[in-house]
Amino acid sequence: MKHEDLEDKLKTAKVDLQRRLSAIDADLGTALDPDSEDRVTQLENDQVLSEMRREAGAQIRLIDAALERLKHGMFGRCVTCLAPIETARLDAIPYTPYCATCARLADERRSS
Ligand SMILES: [Zn+2]
Repeated sequence: MKHEDLEDKLKTAKVDLQRRLSAIDADLGTALDPDSEDRVTQLENDQVLSEMRREAGAQIRLIDAALERLKHGMFGRCVTCLAPIETARLDAIPYTPYCATCARLADERRSS
């Protein structure tokens, strides 16, 4: 993929995420009605929204870091071992900072 295409792709993904974040914030901002029977549902719903919000925020930070690497000519290299990241992996998750091996190791660390 060309440099400019990648940058476009990352920026588009970021705009999408930011739009999602504002939508989530708008939803979370709606006041709870203490007398409403839907209150429990709404609380559960808010928990889901908070989780989505956290994930979108984390993705935006990953995209920013990827754009930064693109600027410095380090894009497509694993930030941990500096090996080139697999093309298929970059196609699927263009903002990933890790190669498949390091991503798996990071996952294992997180889950253990
Ligand atoms: Zn690696």
